[in-house]
Amino acid sequence: MKLIDLRSDTVTQPTPAMREAMAQAELGDDVFGEDPTVNRLEALAAERLGKEAALFVASGTMGNLVALLTHCGRGDEIIIGRDQHIFTSEAGGVAALGGIHPHVIPNEPDGTLRLKDIRAAIRVEDVHHPRTRLIVLENTHLRASGAPLAPDYLQAVRKVANEHGLKLHMDGARIFNAAIALGVPVVDLARDSDTVQFCLSKGLSAPVGSLLAGSEQFIAEGRRQRKMLGGGMRQAGVLAAAGIVALETMVERLAEDHANARYLAENLANLPRIDLDPQRIRTNMVFFGLKGNGLTAQELASRVKRERVLIQPRGPYHLRAAMHYGIERSDVDHALNAIKKCLA
Ligand SMILES: *Cc1c(COP(=O)(O)O)cnc(C)c1O
Repeated sequence: MKLIDLRSDTVTQPTPAMREAMAQAELGDDVFGEDPTVNRLEALAAERLGKEAALFVASGTMGNLVALLTHCGRGDEIIIGRDQHIFTSEAGGVAALGGIHPHVIPNEPDGTLRLKDIRAAIRVEDVHHPRTRLIVLENTHLRASGAPLAPDYLQAVRKVANEHGLKLHMDGARIFNAAIALGVPVVDLARDSDTVQFCLSKGLSAPVGSLLAGSEQFIAEGRRQRKMLGGGMRQAGVLAAAGIVALETMVERLAEDHANARYLAENLANLPRIDLDPQRIRTNMVFFGLKGNGLTAQELASRVKRERVLIQPRGPYHLRAAMHYGIERSDVDHALNAIKKCLA
């Protein structure tokens, strides 16, 4: 029987069309700028986001790191939410490799940073202070159950950034999920950020890679930072080919993942031992809590594994189930039944 892996949307396998495109891809040395498939992917990504240029990188972590190393010098400060991936889950790279100082403020339950908190975190010019350079947002906001950040909020943050001469970076690992959930073109979500990173290897199902988009000049400098980090890849067109298929064919179907997530959430919320507000589930991530009888997240995950369902513990009593390509409604029903049985 099929293993239903809901731990993450990174477990997706490339589609048959991706494998075909990878096998057929025209290749060159991308460090020389001569891989035609990488060049096509970068041009396509820039166009989709409404930016001048884009850079293909090995991972979302590398895309964010290249962006921050390009925006900031040593001792510069970024304003970032304490539940954002760059702060929690990228091995402290901005500090370790960039000498960048994170000024951490709370994320609201909807993933936003309060404008008031951003304003309060901006330093005045003083020899004692680090220099504030950059505001960093995450869209969708993973730990806020994958909440999408809407264009009017992004505009408001841009306005604060402009008032203080700051730049804005978006960790848009799942920006296409946000666009689909909000029913807006992805350019409307990218417009207010100087730079945007997004992942091909999550809901879009490509095997490897992310893109960093921004101005021509910024991306030229980012290319140097990528090289420094060891991210100059050669015949990377074998990977980029899958990314092109991802952008051309895998964006609209994210709506299915969102519908499955909502369906799972509504049914889980009916169970007495589950702590979950289904209204909060707007994209492909279902975060939920356990209450009542002391069953831990680890125990529940181990029990459902015997039913061939994998879910990810995210804390002593919290778990996550991610919807993605390859997960059908019948799989969600199977997972629901498994969870019900294991809670009993
Ligand atoms: C996955 C993820 C990243 C990093 O991507 P990797 O490819 O795993 O390095 C960055 N930000 C968010 C919000 C993510 O979910």
